[in-house]
Amino acid sequence: MCGIFGITGQPDAARVTHLGLYSLQHRGQESAGIVAVSADGDAATVRKMGLVSDGFDEDRIEALHGPTAIGHTRYSTAGTSSIENAQPVFVRFRGGHIALAHNGNLTNAVELRAALEAEGSIFASSMDSEVIVHRIAKSRAGQPAAQLSEALQGLEGAFSLAVVIGTTLLAARDAHGWRPLSIGRLGDAWVFASETCALDIVGATRVRDVAAGEIVYVEDGELRSHRFAEPAALHRCVFEYIYFARPDSQVFGGSVDRARRALGRQLAKEQPTPGADIVFAVPDSSNAAALGYAEASGLQLEHALIRNHYVGRTFIQPTQAGRDAKVKVKYNAVREVLEGRSVVMVDDSIVRGTTTRGLVALLRGAGAREVHMRVSSPPITGPCYYGIDTPEREQLIAAKMQIGEVASAIGVDSLGYLSLEGLLHAVPDGPDGFCHACFSGQYPTRPPVDIKRYRSGR
Ligand code: AMP
Repeated sequence: MCGIFGITGQPDAARVTHLGLYSLQHRGQESAGIVAVSADGDAATVRKMGLVSDGFDEDRIEALHGPTAIGHTRYSTAGTSSIENAQPVFVRFRGGHIALAHNGNLTNAVELRAALEAEGSIFASSMDSEVIVHRIAKSRAGQPAAQLSEALQGLEGAFSLAVVIGTTLLAARDAHGWRPLSIGRLGDAWVFASETCALDIVGATRVRDVAAGEIVYVEDGELRSHRFAEPAALHRCVFEYIYFARPDSQVFGGSVDRARRALGRQLAKEQPTPGADIVFAVPDSSNAAALGYAEASGLQLEHALIRNHYVGRTFIQPTQAGRDAKVKVKYNAVREVLEGRSVVMVDDSIVRGTTTRGLVALLRGAGAREVHMRVSSPPITGPCYYGIDTPEREQLIAAKMQIGEVASAIGVDSLGYLSLEGLLHAVPDGPDGFCHACFSGQYPTRPPVDIKRYRSGR
């Protein structure tokens, strides 16, 4: 998954972008980058591995001049975790340049790449996103919006994009609308951001979302719109509401906080826990769901798990060994809250079950008498090909086991998931127009033909 940001019409665009990226850090922690473009078309870029906060020192930001900039935070879902794959992708061509920041995954990138390579294209990375840049460069259309529009024809899968071609800033969202992308206003400047929390931090006001199948671009200070695809059925990623986005954001025009509370309330209705003493969240992504659960069940909400804020999201560590060790580094249990009690732990999802198993062991070690787990989403039974890192089916615990078996494997006394129907009715603007392939197996497009090559990007 990734976070993208773009701004134009702002004298210190790179600085504002840098600030915006702080609020998109949760969407990707492997690498971060900024490309800035001056009014006469000089472009400069900084990309680095790691967090936004460690590495963009004053001198490096200072060197990024101009009123237009885009930025990106990345964690890899296709292509490896390396500096060649840090974004924005930046290339010089025909005396100009293209910079592109991508959130989502193309499901036919391998085929598109092979076709380009057959014609002589050379690639500097294993990212699906680089394919889009090549296709923009190949376009003979006269205007940036037409070039981008041409490049997007035939792409399958998910993409929310911030692009600079020459001095023009553009943004686009695939016809299914998988990933969020908002438009904001900051004085005379236009801002594009994956989530509205990145508009808030820079002081911009949300205007609207980029529509599915729409390119927006800024010309003479005005926002212009171009439709590159016919309106299709919407498939907004419901997992943005469940887990991915920040609760202080609006995505797809709805409040993430309100969505998660509603999921928690619905979960309490569907999966009550009679006889339990307290309820608590696995911080931070399920805080709002646990609030909703407490509200609807009448159970006392407690802080039973403390999260170390100096370590990142567990999955960001790409190997299993790294993930196992990280559970204890990331969480500890509060004995005073847990000892002798029957407790309800609310989490937003179970993916591999690794973290959850470690957490349950922590709770028991701290004296919990009974541990009941309630999950504010349905069992994840399929991988995501549209940008969320839930890779192979074999690694998904609920794809291999029945719910009772999952309960035993993670060591809880009872386990209850939210139903798909309950989920879709609880999120804003539901129940239609969402992608729930990871729960239902209903993939809106054909999955990648060769999964291994799709993952490796080649
Ligand atoms: P596990 O028990 O190993 O399946 O991990 C469950 C935890 O992973 C939950 O607390 C979720 O909030 C979190 N989670 C869910 N999806 C993802 C994801 N795509 N990347 C990172 N963490 C995730």
